[in-house]
Amino acid sequence: MKITSCVVLAFFFFGASSYAADELIVLKAARMFDGKSNSLVQNGVIIVKDDKIVDVGSNQQVPSGARVVDLGDATLCPGFMDAHTHLTEDFSGNYNERRLRELDLNVSEQAIQATEFARVTIEAGFTTVRDLGSRFVASHEFVDVALRNSINKRVIVGPRMLVATKGIGATGGHFDSTNGFRDFLFGREPDYTDGIANGPDEIRKAVRFEVKNGADVIKAAVSGGVLSLTDEVDTPQLTPAEMAALVDESHRLRKKVAVHCHGDQVAREAIEAGVDSIEHGSFMKPDTLMMMKKKGVFLTPTLMASEWIMGKIGNYPPALQAKAKAATAARSDMFRNAVKIGVKISFGTDAAVFPHGQNAKEFKLMVDLGMTPIEALKSATANDAELLGIAQKVGTLENGKLADVIAVPGDPTTDITATERVSFVMKEGRIIRQGPSGAEKAEKTASPDVSALAD
Ligand SMILES: [Zn+2]
Repeated sequence: MKITSCVVLAFFFFGASSYAADELIVLKAARMFDGKSNSLVQNGVIIVKDDKIVDVGSNQQVPSGARVVDLGDATLCPGFMDAHTHLTEDFSGNYNERRLRELDLNVSEQAIQATEFARVTIEAGFTTVRDLGSRFVASHEFVDVALRNSINKRVIVGPRMLVATKGIGATGGHFDSTNGFRDFLFGREPDYTDGIANGPDEIRKAVRFEVKNGADVIKAAVSGGVLSLTDEVDTPQLTPAEMAALVDESHRLRKKVAVHCHGDQVAREAIEAGVDSIEHGSFMKPDTLMMMKKKGVFLTPTLMASEWIMGKIGNYPPALQAKAKAATAARSDMFRNAVKIGVKISFGTDAAVFPHGQNAKEFKLMVDLGMTPIEALKSATANDAELLGIAQKVGTLENGKLADVIAVPGDPTTDITATERVSFVMKEGRIIRQGPSGAEKAEKTASPDVSALAD
């Protein structure tokens, strides 16, 4: 392990365990966004005991003996959530180099790398993520499940994760990780154990297999995608009968369904089938958005994904460049229409397409395309909590909820990019970050005292 990582781990370990369990922590800042109001509260105070918020409001009295963390000219917010990440993957570099590297790298090594992606994500203020797909070509490992469990057991530091395992898709579709390679290069065609299923019965089997192996949510690719080589971006990849089976089986098992979907026709079919969220949705027309609004289906727009790809378009093969251009050209109008129509919008970025930890850049893209700053902040807090089915526990700053609290400098309603400069992170009452991130601190440490880490 690199020395810098040891310093980071030591920081978390000692930082997180230095308070008595029954100590009250009082968080104060000039402003507070509670996750549900349409304006900020002045002089926000949050009182935390163990893992929960026990009092919250403006100018609350500080109990004697409490430890006060005064964050000054900042805004307290509920921990941000990202409803669309891939914490076990990194697609952000050159496309072909990455494909080749993945063939070389041991999956265990990729899993170790994912622990770093989890850390930078929570340090950026994202205390919860819905991780929508973790697959390694010709591997049966469940790295996302391992990451989630290790975070829950506090073996490593990271956001609360709801995981989808491999995701489900059709042969040759967006989720077929042998897509674009010579046939049988990996010895066999992928099957339901890889998330590749055809026909309603196989789809049910794939859902059951993923739930058996730890899935909290079911993800499926119902249309083509940008970063896959042999499919068109907007063509349907599951039939209405397959989608009906997918939704029915998932909902019977009390799992929500998120579908990767760019095309308009297949989006309508997916909405009819009863999916809970449409991911991306690039080519959706106003009529389709109206259907979503009527049925209460969430849109997770992932604007950051197309923004990153377009900014580094030379990193992708020509076929993908053409798909990215078409999807990006369509998605801005789609998003503006969704805001106007009043579709429920969940905050989700597709982190892994761009480097982990830059999730908050999505906020500015949303605001630039017509959302108010408050609505954008709600999408990453209360809306995501509702979509993820965890609104009873997190998403707003209220008595009895888990103490997932972050702070951003200044006022994010006048400068939404403040969300990109998170200065304080608490998850379940434990301070994960106060001031510079672990990475920033480690960088400033010229010669770390390695001997201090020996015990
Ligand atoms: Zn994705």
